[in-house]
Amino acid sequence: MPWSYIINTNRYYASLNNSTDGQMPLPDGQFSNTKKMVFVLVIGETARSDNFSLYGYPKNTNPKLQQTPNLLVFKNTQSCTTYTTGSLACMLSHTEKVANFEALPTYLARHGADVIWRTNNWGEPAIDVSSYVKASDLRSSCQGEGCRLDEALLTNLIETIESSTKQKIFIVLHTKGSHGPSYYSRYTASFNQFKPVCRDEEISKCTSQELINAYDNTILYTDHFLATLIAKLESLQSIPSAMMYISDHGESLGEQGLYLHGTPYSFAPDYQKTSPFCYGLQIRCNRISK
Ligand SMILES: [Zn+2]
Repeated sequence: MPWSYIINTNRYYASLNNSTDGQMPLPDGQFSNTKKMVFVLVIGETARSDNFSLYGYPKNTNPKLQQTPNLLVFKNTQSCTTYTTGSLACMLSHTEKVANFEALPTYLARHGADVIWRTNNWGEPAIDVSSYVKASDLRSSCQGEGCRLDEALLTNLIETIESSTKQKIFIVLHTKGSHGPSYYSRYTASFNQFKPVCRDEEISKCTSQELINAYDNTILYTDHFLATLIAKLESLQSIPSAMMYISDHGESLGEQGLYLHGTPYSFAPDYQKTSPFCYGLQIRCNRISK
C-alpha cells in the first residue's frame, strides 16, 4: 500500500527510541508465593485465527496443537491494531488508552522477576528487562534446520530457565511467524505440505490458492514451534510452567482485493484483526489452577 512506506518508516524510527525514561510506573504489587515458576508468552506475527484448524479451518494446520491436552483456545479475540508496533504496545499494556505507562515486562522486572525477551522480530515498546536477546545471537548455539527461523528462539531455553536464580521467570518469544509477503520463506522444507505455493514476493501475481497454501504452511510451522515449546516446558522436572500464544494481528490474503495488513483499523477487514489466542498449562509438575 502506498501509505505503508511513509507510515512504517516513521514507526521504524520511533521504535529505535527504546528508552523507558518518562514512563509512569504502575502501582506496586507482590507475588502471592515464592515458588519458582515460569511463564512464556509467545507473540505471533501476522497469524489470523481464520486459518487455524483450532478455530474450525477445514485444512489441518494445527495437527500438533490439536493433540495437546490442557490447551485453552479463546475465541473472538481481536487485535488492538493491524500493525506490529501498535499491537505490541497494546497487548503489553494494562490499558488500551495511549499513555506512557511502563509495559508488563518492565513491571515484572521491577518486581524482581527474571524477564527474558528473545526476538526474531522488532517493534516492541520501550522495555527494561533482565535480558534482551536477538535470534541472530542465538543461532550460533542452535542446531537444526529451523535455526534460521523462529526455532532459534528456543535455543537453550530450558537451560536458561533452570539456571535462573529468580523465583519468577517471564519469557517473551517474539516470533516472525507468518510475516509476508514471502510466506514461503517462513518455514522449513518439511512444512511445505500445502502445494503449490506462491514463491513471488509480488503476491498478486500468484493464484489465490498458491498464496493461501504458502500462508497455511506458515501456520503449520507455527503449530510445530508451539508444540516444540510445550514439549520443552514439559521436560522441566520441578518448575511449574505455562505458555500463552497470541498473534499481534491478522492478515489479508486477497479478500476484497486486499493483501498483507496495516489497513487503517476503522475500515480494515476482520481478517486483519482476528488473532489466535491459546493458553497452555504444563501439568507434569504442580498444576497451576485455571
Ligand atoms: Zn505484526
